[in-house]
Amino acid sequence: MTASGTEAKREPAATPRLREAVGGLPAYKAGKAPAPGGETFKLASNENPYPPLPGVLEAAIGAAGSFNRYPDFACSNLLEELAAAYDVPVDHIAAGTGSVGVAQQLLQVAAGPGDEVIFAWRSFEAYPILTQIAGATAVMVPLRDERHDLDAMAAAVTGRTRLIFVCTPNNPTGAVVHRDELERFLDRAPDDVLVVIDEAYTEFVRDPECVDGLELYRERPNVCVLRTFSKAYGLAGLRVGFAVAHPPVATALRACAVPFGVSCVAQAAAVASLHARPALMERVEALVAERTRVVGELRRRGIAVPDTEANFYWLRLGDRTAKFAAACEEAGVTVRPFGDEGVRVTIGEPKANDLAISLAVDYA
Ligand code: PMP
Repeated sequence: MTASGTEAKREPAATPRLREAVGGLPAYKAGKAPAPGGETFKLASNENPYPPLPGVLEAAIGAAGSFNRYPDFACSNLLEELAAAYDVPVDHIAAGTGSVGVAQQLLQVAAGPGDEVIFAWRSFEAYPILTQIAGATAVMVPLRDERHDLDAMAAAVTGRTRLIFVCTPNNPTGAVVHRDELERFLDRAPDDVLVVIDEAYTEFVRDPECVDGLELYRERPNVCVLRTFSKAYGLAGLRVGFAVAHPPVATALRACAVPFGVSCVAQAAAVASLHARPALMERVEALVAERTRVVGELRRRGIAVPDTEANFYWLRLGDRTAKFAAACEEAGVTVRPFGDEGVRVTIGEPKANDLAISLAVDYA
């Protein structure tokens, strides 16, 4: 006690000890929201520009009426609907808080300290973060011509490899992996290594040669498919995604899930979205048509854009990256710059797409 009767503030001798793996963890950089005021657009996070479909919104609002209760932990209704929609056994599905949540569970079940996780780079920026959180070692294999270099990825497999992410279409370049090349890769990969095909953008794919992860999952017990309701289904803000995998992978994923992670609102909206698939896929079709228009316009102006099968395109602008992103922001459109490599631009409202095209002419 001090003379005034208050306790003297004790300086702590140390701070709580955290796992070494989480020291210096790079922060996940979320797509920037436009500054408020005026007409602004966000082309920075590969979101669906359409507002919620009325029937889906009603289902979500209906479910919100019981959010004093915990949601169905097992997501039973959702898993049954998914099992029917994709013709897979219900115990081969695991849902999570967005497909990034499921990706984190995948690492938890498959890789730890001393293990290696292979993925292409640049690819989805959560992969290195999640790998580091798991305490495993990331083996990043450079893209070749903006595409996965599957030969190099196969050559990178060692006795320590536990998980391989294959992102198709690849975020941020938009390139897909073809079925024949992935089959050759899987023939080379050891059967006890989990190969995760991340198909977050699969509904936007129109290339007939692109792999369908579910087909490969049916043939190979070490293949797991990751899908999401965030992009084509437009539920990014509700956080629901899922994996399709054989037991014991799917079983382990469910066992490792954050209890009650997928909210009752998200579950109801996801089920309603599956029922509203035709209307939602019409929107996807319109976005695909807009993608064709935008890429055509850019190329017509002499701007190099790699083929994209996703709801975004990639401009490898190098040291002009930051300037282009700043000019877009100034014009009321946020895009997603990656260091001095390039910029990923989401296909959004035609007006926003046109703004991005006109600025690309000055910077690309
Ligand atoms: N995989 C890829 C390739 C992505 O681009 C994203 C979102 N940016 C995700 C997974 C995660 O999406 P969500 O968690 O919203 O399902």
